Amino acid sequence: MVHADDVQRLFLQAVFSRGILSAKLARTLWNKSIVAVTAADPDFDAALQCNDEDSWNTIVTKINRSLDALDLEFRHLNDENTGTDMYAVVNRKGDEIAQMATDYTPAEITYFKAIIELIMLAPRESFSVSSTVALREVSAIKPKTNMSKTQAEVVLGSFVARGWLVKSKRGRYSLSTRSLLELQSYLKSTYPEEYSECTICMAILTRGVACHTPNCKCRLHYHCFENYRRRKSSCPSCKEGEWPETYSEKPLIPIGEAAARDGEDARRCARTADSDEEEDEELADDEEAAASQSQRSQRARKSKAIRDESMDEDDDSVKDGPVKQEKESQPTRRSSRK
Ligand SMILES: [Zn+2]
Ligand SMILES: [Zn+2]
Repeated sequence: MVHADDVQRLFLQAVFSRGILSAKLARTLWNKSIVAVTAADPDFDAALQCNDEDSWNTIVTKINRSLDALDLEFRHLNDENTGTDMYAVVNRKGDEIAQMATDYTPAEITYFKAIIELIMLAPRESFSVSSTVALREVSAIKPKTNMSKTQAEVVLGSFVARGWLVKSKRGRYSLSTRSLLELQSYLKSTYPEEYSECTICMAILTRGVACHTPNCKCRLHYHCFENYRRRKSSCPSCKEGEWPETYSEKPLIPIGEAAARDGEDARRCARTADSDEEEDEELADDEEAAASQSQRSQRARKSKAIRDESMDEDDDSVKDGPVKQEKESQPTRRSSRK
């Protein structure tokens, strides 16, 4: 005797095995799951077929009701480059990178966090880092991780292969749609100042375009710009000026890799040089350069540490969790590196 839950179980297994998938594939897999269950019991007709947007929304709501007790969510996000609607099951409680814990060692996760930091604090909102700088970062976290550059190269390749990072033709790393979906809470709580949202769809934004009016905070994904620009030509936030017809035209300001200038990462390269003395000087240098940006992040991280500590006091049963988090997240904090 089959049950409606069997369809959900089959479907979720298919989702988990893929990590992240398009809405189109998800809908197909849902209907295939019904077919598979019906094959086992021809009388079975308890599951809702996905025929249109409405039925899909009902199905997603149902799935999320089942996942709720585990603090998991079947969540979607548009791919920032293509606009494709993507889905993944994400850990709703995750303000830590627990998602990777089963695949990577603590040292590798420390390295991943350091890469995220380079990406989030990248100058000019380029939200990307060159492979040279990503590799040199290994020496900065070496005391904690004891990782060689060769090992780092392999791990970086694995981050790309498993869909956590994207490597561009230019050789720069940025966060994948999977990372943006699954690490959203972590990114938001660790980098509250750098975390930016699209003015139109309100989703996280690391690639797109910014309004050129000074101090205007308007940022749009490429696909959101195109949809909006078809209807209106002035900025939705400041209402000033006339926007060009395409997002790549001046005076609009690029966000993401398009904003990165070659050689600008050099500062950070130098900062992670091997000599301790040099590093001291350069750290001061960097703090000056990154100015309020890095201070804000440090503040954010400090407040997070305080939160972790208070959790320890509040609840003995979660002691293992926060203590471990605290230990793992320490090395990536610039302020506590010395
Ligand atoms: Zn958007
Ligand atoms: Zn504007």
